[in-house]
Amino acid sequence: MKDKAVEEIFSQAYADERNFLFEHEAKNLCSLYGLPVTKFKVCQSEDSAIESASKIGYPIVLKIVSPQVLHKSDAGGVILDVKDEKGVREGYNKIIKNVKEKVPNAQITGILVQEMAPKSTEIIIGSTRDSTFGQTIMFGLGGIFVEILKDVSFRLVPITKNDAEEMIREIKAYKILEGARGMPKADQKTLVDILLKTSKMLTECNEIKELDLNPVLVYENGAKIVDARVILDQDMARSINYF
Ligand code: ADP
Ligand code: MG
Repeated sequence: MKDKAVEEIFSQAYADERNFLFEHEAKNLCSLYGLPVTKFKVCQSEDSAIESASKIGYPIVLKIVSPQVLHKSDAGGVILDVKDEKGVREGYNKIIKNVKEKVPNAQITGILVQEMAPKSTEIIIGSTRDSTFGQTIMFGLGGIFVEILKDVSFRLVPITKNDAEEMIREIKAYKILEGARGMPKADQKTLVDILLKTSKMLTECNEIKELDLNPVLVYENGAKIVDARVILDQDMARSINYF
């Protein structure tokens, strides 16, 4: 059985007739499953963004929250490494200006203020639903590894701990996670834990048509999900009678 708080995230999105979860909703969902996400707060004014930034601690990241903007950087909707109040004010207005230029019909729901995670190896964990086999889970390294080399591993969910360990070792670039060529050694125990918790979330939530944890920054100790995207299954909205 799903937690009531989990149900509420989906029913809100269906009630708004959105086919995706905002990043902050997807991160709320992830944290309900015990997944490590950045601290964040959605703000509706410059002053509240400054207040949130000082609570979270500089440097911070600013991102657009808009029902018309799914790919935030493409719309000029992500500003990294904001170091002080002045930067928050400038960034807040810059993002709104960029998004209005690139997506003229965009409604601005707010600006997401979040913790800036230190640079490290970028992992991608994703999922799509195969019409024959069901929900899948994918693991790979970020950037060129997934985009150009298609160096990823797949399983159907639910997965076991052994599956998760195999998924990590299976990718061709595995040596990078072991610390090859001066790369930081990745906390593989945490990656296994993330894969298992993601599998549980996918198994319980049929509302998730596609999931993209992209990227997950992995450290020698721990990991942080810095972006999360969920595409919703519209048939689920009808079958549960959200409307
Ligand atoms: P998009 O919607 O375009 O995928 P992201 O939220 O993934 O936007 O942001 C774009 C890039 O900025 C990410 O791939 C990551 O490299 C970096 N980034 C985003 N959020 C953070 C964060 N909180 N800490 C550090 N880097 C981040
Ligand atoms: Mg992203």
